Amino acid sequence: MRRIRRLRATIHSLEQFENAIIQEYLAVPTEFKPVYRSNRWRTSEILGSLLASHGRSCAYCQGTLTQSDRGDVEHFRPKSHYWWLTYNIRNYLISCARCNRVRKGDRFPLADGVPNYDFSRRSELKEEPRLLADPYTDEVERLYGAVVDDTLILVLPLVTTSDDDNSMRISEYTKDFFDFNTNGLLVKERTDTVFKALGAMKRLRQGDLTAETDITRLANRYSPHGIAVRQILMPKYDAQLPSEAAQVDWFVDDTIVEMKMLDRIIAVNTNAKDARFLKEINGWALATLWHNSPADNLEAIERKLNNENYSDYVEQFQRLLS
Ligand SMILES: [Zn+2]
Repeated sequence: MRRIRRLRATIHSLEQFENAIIQEYLAVPTEFKPVYRSNRWRTSEILGSLLASHGRSCAYCQGTLTQSDRGDVEHFRPKSHYWWLTYNIRNYLISCARCNRVRKGDRFPLADGVPNYDFSRRSELKEEPRLLADPYTDEVERLYGAVVDDTLILVLPLVTTSDDDNSMRISEYTKDFFDFNTNGLLVKERTDTVFKALGAMKRLRQGDLTAETDITRLANRYSPHGIAVRQILMPKYDAQLPSEAAQVDWFVDDTIVEMKMLDRIIAVNTNAKDARFLKEINGWALATLWHNSPADNLEAIERKLNNENYSDYVEQFQRLLS
C-alpha cells in the first residue's frame, strides 16, 4: 500500500447531496432509509480529482486498474452502514474491482467485536478500532515493506512488537484481508514490475540512458506497484530514483500523452462517448494537480499545458475547484 495525499478539491455538487441526506435523516430519524442517488460518485469531476491523488493503481493492492475505466470509486467506510459518508469525498478511494467488490464489499471490520459506530458517534470515527489500514491517514509506507522472497516480491508488515498494538493489528489484518501475498496474479504483476525495474537499473548502470525513462515510470508512486519498486531499489540506488517533482512531472506528461490519443479517437469518431469521458477525467486530474501539486511545481505543470495547447481546456475545470 502507499500513502495517498488528499489534494484540496471541493466538489460542490457532492456537498449538496451530503447535506441533503443528513437533512432527510434529521427530519424523521425513526423512519429514515437512505435513498442513494447512485453513480453520483462516478462523475468525471470526482474520478479526476481522485486520479490526481491516486495515480493509476489501486489504493489497497497497488495493482493495475482496468483498461476500460479508472477503477471503482470505493467507499472506505461502506455506505450501507455509514450512510452519512456516502457523498463525502474524504471517504472515497480508487480501487480495483477485486479489492472493492470481492474482498471488501460492505465489510468494515472492527476489533474485538465492537459494533460499527453509528451517526450519533460520527465525530468519534478517529477512535473507532478499525482493522483496515487507511491510506489517507495511516503511515502505510511504514506499515508495509516489499521484500524479495526467493523469486517473489512480497509485501510484509514492517511493524514490530515495539510499535503500538494498533499499527500491528491493522497491518497484519489488512495484508490478509486483501490477499496481498496470496492472490497469484497480483503477486506476479508486482514481481514482474520490480524485476523490470531492476533490469532497467542494470541497463542504466551499463550506460543505457533510455533506461532512465523506464525507471521514472516504474519507481513512481502514480504507477502500479511503484512504491514496492522504490522500496526494493532504495537501499542500493536511492540517488537514481525519481524525486517527488520528477514523479509528478512524469504523471502529468503521461496524462497529456493520453489526452492527445483520446483527442485523435474523438476526431475520427463522432460517437466516442467513453473517450470524451476519459478526456474529461484527465482534464479534472490535471486541473487538480495544477491547483495544488504535491511537489510544488505549479509553473512546470502550467508550462507543459501551454506547450501542448491544453491550458484553456484544463483551466475551465481549474476555475471550478476551490
Ligand atoms: Zn486492488
